[in-house]
Amino acid sequence: MKILLIEDDDLVADSLARALRGSGYVVDCVGNGTHAETAVKTEPYDAVILDLGLPEMDGLEFLKRIRAKKIGVPVLILTARDSYEERIEGLDCGANDYVTKPFHLGELEARVRALLRLSVSNATAVNVGELTFDTVRRVLRKGDELIELSPREYAVLEILIHNIGSLVTKQKMASLLSDWDASVTFNAIDIIVHRLRKKLEPYGLKLQTIRGLGFLVEP
Ligand code: CA
Repeated sequence: MKILLIEDDDLVADSLARALRGSGYVVDCVGNGTHAETAVKTEPYDAVILDLGLPEMDGLEFLKRIRAKKIGVPVLILTARDSYEERIEGLDCGANDYVTKPFHLGELEARVRALLRLSVSNATAVNVGELTFDTVRRVLRKGDELIELSPREYAVLEILIHNIGSLVTKQKMASLLSDWDASVTFNAIDIIVHRLRKKLEPYGLKLQTIRGLGFLVEP
């Protein structure tokens, strides 16, 4: 699980990043909204922790911009702005959670865990083309007809559906499919994607390969 931490206070950023890394997360830190916008467009983060008072681009402006671009990464606002009006505004701009400073590290980490659960199992069913991706029963169907997928094919499709409309890099795909004991090669991913595409294209689901970059399912 990879987290983008957007915080211009180096002391807060360093200590929070250290704590999160200690809990096993991969953490990237940026200190302003412009760099953060570039980062979320190029890296597949599982969650974003967002300070609001930032140089160049305010945190709320960053949030509005990524939501306008349909970047759906879960965002937790972490800020000293603590009035209820500011909380409402933050959530209405597209944040998934709102924590005020000073914060308790244990609570923040619990909220991050909740956010990450959201990023992997938010919807119970997703419709793509004529197909329904049922995330509760873990099957793909067209109406009542089940479409046979191998576990690996399902896992690849699950990653693509969770990132629908966004590019999934081959590196990201490999890291999500691999565990410490067994890594999945790029070649194996290409073969699975090729098989998936052949199975799904008749149903109108377009699985694009963007050469040298990765894969994309259009919404
Ligand atoms: Ca700040």
